[in-house]
Amino acid sequence: MVELTGQSLAAALDGLEKGRFSSVELTRAHLDAVEALNPTLNAYITVTAEQALTQAAEADAVRARGEAGLLCGAPVAIKDLFCTEGVRTTAASRILSNFVPPYESTVTAQMKRDGAVSLGKTNLDEFAMGSSNMTSAFGAVQNPWRRRGDDSPLVPGGSSGGSASAVAARIALAATGTDTGGSIRQPASFCGIAGIKPTYGRCSRWGTVAFASSLDQAGPLARTVEDCAILLRSMAGFDPKDSTSVDVAVPDFRAAVGRSVKGMRIGIPAEYRAPGMPEEIERWWQQGIAWLRDAGCEIVDVSLPHTRYGLATYYIVAPAECSSNLARYDGVRFGERVEADSLDALYERSRAAGFGDEVKRRILIGTYVLSSGYYDAYYLKAQKVRSLILRDFTEAFGRVDALLTPTAPSAAFGLGEKMSDPVTMYLNDIFTVPASMAGVPGMSVPVGLDSAGLPLGLQLIGRPFDEETLFALGSALEKAAGFDHLPALRAGAVA
Ligand code: GLN
Repeated sequence: MVELTGQSLAAALDGLEKGRFSSVELTRAHLDAVEALNPTLNAYITVTAEQALTQAAEADAVRARGEAGLLCGAPVAIKDLFCTEGVRTTAASRILSNFVPPYESTVTAQMKRDGAVSLGKTNLDEFAMGSSNMTSAFGAVQNPWRRRGDDSPLVPGGSSGGSASAVAARIALAATGTDTGGSIRQPASFCGIAGIKPTYGRCSRWGTVAFASSLDQAGPLARTVEDCAILLRSMAGFDPKDSTSVDVAVPDFRAAVGRSVKGMRIGIPAEYRAPGMPEEIERWWQQGIAWLRDAGCEIVDVSLPHTRYGLATYYIVAPAECSSNLARYDGVRFGERVEADSLDALYERSRAAGFGDEVKRRILIGTYVLSSGYYDAYYLKAQKVRSLILRDFTEAFGRVDALLTPTAPSAAFGLGEKMSDPVTMYLNDIFTVPASMAGVPGMSVPVGLDSAGLPLGLQLIGRPFDEETLFALGSALEKAAGFDHLPALRAGAVA
């Protein structure tokens, strides 16, 4: 019997096409797995079982008519930051805990158009602010991985931690994520799966709850590089409703998977070494370099000197934009309202009750750096440094086709760790933030386990709108690594 929840998205689509199982069977197997594992993982905030089964039955009918789209009948999960018509969308915040959007985000509308079945909405850090999923108003998410011989729960990374945990635990074939400073790549690395943040402007932001508009980008999380390629094809595309969406053709990313990487030039940036980074991350990085060399790539040392300012500038720009974006949650138009005698008091009380600590911290920082007198010293300066970060990448891409770096400076850590001061948590994003600041695409590919038995990923960074090179290189790394380890808590036993 085919193990319904253990297969890749590509294999599931093939099985559906060949009539080995129906979408209703596939969806039911996933819903059973969700029921068994979600109470522990807390990966989903909302499970839409009934809707999923209706969509699956429709998909079976559409396929029977010979009209199957790209994702027809595939059960996937949606980060609860994408607005879904008629289905509660919370951004993992108390302030949106009762928000039912009357519209569908462009990304999820395109997936629906292609026949995807939505299992539900996945948990995240509140408003996508975080690297551990600990800031969700709906509770922490668990990573399905455990350290060898140690049953204590670990974080899945963040902010797309629910999506990453669900995909790794086989309670979704694949999932959508968003990445503002690393929120697809870092959880992918922590959970032993693949994920790509495409070029800024590749996927529409319309209908996605905004965090930092000049950085936010949607992308897929899946168990294979090929599955990411399939899902991204559906998610991407020009949208006149988003003024930063770029009108370029969406290539068949899947065709780039497995393409020869012979003769490609791969840059190794000297600056991607963090103080205190475990030696084994360096070792896996060297292993990745060796694999790409064996595949025929030329390895070139490069320097991205402004990388060292990446984190500091990101944590000015992102809070600045968040403070402005989140001004709309005032208790009047959206979400929770706490009644008061005056309008000002209503705003204050609604926002005080509706936002969690991390979100409040960022609104305060953002408001401060945008305020008169500090704007030039912080915000404007950060924007200037941002241009220098982009210039580093542009110069490097004059010499190389892509860059290879570690994805994160550590493996998954324990639930509740790194919470004592915010900077310790922010350091997680040290390798992912520069590509976000520059708007260039980045992909994380699982390559191996550390000595505690936890997955580690490597990051490939590419030229703007050249995701195809990342798919070719990502699949070369994936093939060399042969990463086929399973997390301790997986749904395999269920279906
Ligand atoms: N961890 C980063 C932050 O906290 C990135 C989050 C994201 O990409 N959404 O801002």
